[in-house]
Amino acid sequence: MFDLKKYRKKSPWILHYNAGSCNGCDIEILAALSPKYDLERFGVINTGNPKQSDIFLVTGPVTYRSRERLVELYTQMPSPKVVVAVGSCTCTGGVFREMYNVEDGIDRYIPVDVYIPGCAVTPELIIDGVVQALDILENKTKELEDAKKLYKKPTEKEGVLNLRDSALKVGEDEED
Ligand code: SF4
Repeated sequence: MFDLKKYRKKSPWILHYNAGSCNGCDIEILAALSPKYDLERFGVINTGNPKQSDIFLVTGPVTYRSRERLVELYTQMPSPKVVVAVGSCTCTGGVFREMYNVEDGIDRYIPVDVYIPGCAVTPELIIDGVVQALDILENKTKELEDAKKLYKKPTEKEGVLNLRDSALKVGEDEED
């Protein structure tokens, strides 16, 4: 049988978003993906499509201009998904904290699974964070699969009853 849990962990797709960083951490992400550090050895592919991504790598303190896009990208990603805050700015605002145009970290807007502090973060730390994200992704996938197993399909009789109940409810609503 096709084991989704196993394969999702082995070929996670990454979405990288700059929410207002100075580009320091973004360059380190690119370095981590280069042949020298070879993040791709974990099966990771850097993709630009949120609808096909499993891991959301975010840099930057979240500017007022980027916050809506951040939430939009997060909501477009299918579940299960893992969010990694890359750099001190993304974790807490970092050197930009309490500035007039930033939001002091992304966890005010989206849930964060892995925090990687550092200014700038090193490729080694990014790899470590992504490896943590892989384990979290595996656990979340398992939880989702278990929840699906608990879902019991209604029998034919229950299905008919449900249809009848909804028809009666529609009738009641119309009477009101
Ligand atoms: S943590 Fe440092 S290097 Fe990274 S985006 Fe912020 S200021 Fe730039």
